[in-house]
Amino acid sequence: MSPPSAAESPPLAPLQFDQRPEEKFREFLEIRGEKLTEPRRLLVRHIYSSHKHFDADELIADLQAAGHRVSRATVYRTLRLLVEAHLLRELRLTNRTAYEHDYGYPSHDHMHCTTCGAVLEFTNEELRNLRDRVAAAHGFRATGHRFIITGQCGTCARARSPRRRLDRI
Ligand SMILES: [Zn+2]
Ligand SMILES: [Zn+2]
Repeated sequence: MSPPSAAESPPLAPLQFDQRPEEKFREFLEIRGEKLTEPRRLLVRHIYSSHKHFDADELIADLQAAGHRVSRATVYRTLRLLVEAHLLRELRLTNRTAYEHDYGYPSHDHMHCTTCGAVLEFTNEELRNLRDRVAAAHGFRATGHRFIITGQCGTCARARSPRRRLDRI
């Protein structure tokens, strides 16, 4: 039996919030002398209603489908603020910038399928330890890292090379 592909692995379990994302954002904005305006509140609630990887265009389409009217400029600016507030994490993928929750979610890494665009999550303790050892060897204290494996997901790899698959049988 072949090992399960990453696409079949269950999603990571969310962590408990110490504070609601909305409150965390409000505090962050207050320090900067800014307000949690109604559109910003709507955005943070909408974004935190589900865990996924999304880009600005997908978010805008999603908001429109839900009947919300938020300007593009507000969406872009709020996304930037949410990244600065450590509520969202930016993922620089090959062809786009995606976002995901950086709060109330376990740390993990990604695989990006450059054929279908799927973004798969995984955690690997060895990788984290390696990161810490590499950093320590340079007198560096690691507080984070970015690691994205690019290539083809199981489905795309199978669709692309039927012959190679037959060879293995
Ligand atoms: Zn794929
Ligand atoms: Zn992720």
